[in-house]
Amino acid sequence: MRPIVLLSCGGSPSPTYQAGSAGPTRTADFGPIGRVGVKVEYVRAVEAGGGVPLLLPDCRDAAEIDRAIAAGDALLLTGGGDVAPSRYGEPAHPLTARIDPVRDAVEDQAVRAAMRRGLPMLGICRGIQVFNVVLGGTLIQDIPDHFAGAPVGEGGLVHAGTDHSVAVEGGSMLAGLWPGGQLIVNSRHHQAVGDLAGPLRATARAPDGIIEAVESTDGYPLLGLQCHPEDLWSERTEFLTPFKWLTEAAARRCR
Ligand code: MN
Repeated sequence: MRPIVLLSCGGSPSPTYQAGSAGPTRTADFGPIGRVGVKVEYVRAVEAGGGVPLLLPDCRDAAEIDRAIAAGDALLLTGGGDVAPSRYGEPAHPLTARIDPVRDAVEDQAVRAAMRRGLPMLGICRGIQVFNVVLGGTLIQDIPDHFAGAPVGEGGLVHAGTDHSVAVEGGSMLAGLWPGGQLIVNSRHHQAVGDLAGPLRATARAPDGIIEAVESTDGYPLLGLQCHPEDLWSERTEFLTPFKWLTEAAARRCR
């Protein structure tokens, strides 16, 4: 049986969201009615990787998310807007944007519930950042600003739309998926992992030092990637391997 992979959903930003309000408060990206969902590329990548995709919407009853997690065999955290900096104890940078407190709460609960149940987890873009925040780390809120004070020639890469190389740490789980030590990834982010959470280690970095992958220090099946393999796998097979890894880890758990 193919394992069920739960995909966390994004929606329109909800600046007007009021806890407990009943009306349609999501207004921006998807029109006045508001929708939640995932980019179809995530669904196709999960299927191609051997899983059955099942959407996990950012419902408001985050406390009950454990019951939804129980329906799945693996968890995939998808890309999206910025995590509220209050979740890691920092004031918001002026360029921190698209905060969705509903999604933040649901993904926090989803990660904790998945770990209680031993579900393997893959986090992409925002997902790697959610892992780090939930497990106690911080984020770089704006990469260009982070490098703004660096000496000339030591500034950061352009991570917002320019492909770049990453160096993969030898001996890591990721090195098993991406042998060769180095590869070119896509890059569409203005935030990144900052202070690394204690249970995580960085297993790939961009040339400017920005963390591009994390996994767990204790062997828990968790992989965070800052790039977007879901957009690349159909042309470059090495980017299907994270999705295969997720479903194979889930299948091992199911047995
Ligand atoms: Mn990048």
